[in-house]
Amino acid sequence: MSELIVFIGIGNMGNPMAQNLVKAGKEVKVFDVSKKMIEKAKKNKLNVVENLDDLITNKVTTVITMLPEGKNSKEVYLGDKGIINKVSKNCLLIDCSTIDIQTSIEIGKKATEKGIKMIDAPVSGGVMGAQKATLNIMVGGTKDAYNIALPLLKIMGKNIFHAGDLGSGNGAKICNNMSLGITMIAASESLMLAKRLNIDIKKVHEIMKNASGNSWPISVYPPLPGLIEGTPSNNNYRAGFSAGMMNKDLKLANECAKQVNASTPLANIALEIYDKFCKEGNDTKDFSAISKVVGGDAWNYPID
Ligand code: NAD
Repeated sequence: MSELIVFIGIGNMGNPMAQNLVKAGKEVKVFDVSKKMIEKAKKNKLNVVENLDDLITNKVTTVITMLPEGKNSKEVYLGDKGIINKVSKNCLLIDCSTIDIQTSIEIGKKATEKGIKMIDAPVSGGVMGAQKATLNIMVGGTKDAYNIALPLLKIMGKNIFHAGDLGSGNGAKICNNMSLGITMIAASESLMLAKRLNIDIKKVHEIMKNASGNSWPISVYPPLPGLIEGTPSNNNYRAGFSAGMMNKDLKLANECAKQVNASTPLANIALEIYDKFCKEGNDTKDFSAISKVVGGDAWNYPID
């Protein structure tokens, strides 16, 4: 049977990931509920199908989803017109969305009951990682399903990890983003302190990149402009990875921590900070705009 990949959710991440599959010579059909994203995908020459019912048939060999939240994954896979009732047993399901572990396991179990292989495969590396196909991909599911998915995952990412059983990909991703949320605030505090101390931020950034205060927000995704080209801070904080998504991930971390009695005091404070920032109307801005919160009156950068 010839290969046919359906990609659902072609937003900031899904669009470049689908483009990389096409560049690798794969037959890919895409779908999104957002007209804006559909228009963008058409401009990018992706093969858009505007009706999901027409898209999911027993000819599909792989479904990849890249959706905002667990409720979206649940609707797409298990809803009235859900994918698991339409695809053949030979179809592989890959949910790359960052969602809660329970929902991930629930969807995967229902697929498995029908004899369909499924993995959770959330990613890290941001929009730039999606564009350059350098994503880190964290897989939960059987070794068998992981091995079948590997060639496709290698087209979209660079480091592919098998984290464990179903849901472990999301577990690993939640742990990762808990650190990311905290370190973005830490990087913002350091750079804004340098500004108030009247030390050249570019020099402090260069020093931190090479010293023990380095982190992903410092070396790849600095929260202040003028440090690394192509980052959201250089583009009026247009998202990339939105503050709303980071807030969602910190809520997921908070829920997981409560369930297993883990102590996460810094993550709890980070959640409070992002939650307030989002409630003030900043949820669609890039999450690096959190530097505005710690910057106070010394923060004077443009924001969309
Ligand atoms: P996004 O909002 O840009 O894209 C999600 C897309 O899903 C949207 O275009 C939306 O219209 C579509 N969608 C929602 N419900 C749908 C449905 N029922 N059917 C079809 N399409 C539907 O979000 P994103 O930034 O691309 O993030 C997607 C996922 O990846 C999230 O879980 C996020 O946490 C995770 N993630 C994002 C980044 C990043 O840097 N943006 C990095 C790593 C992981």
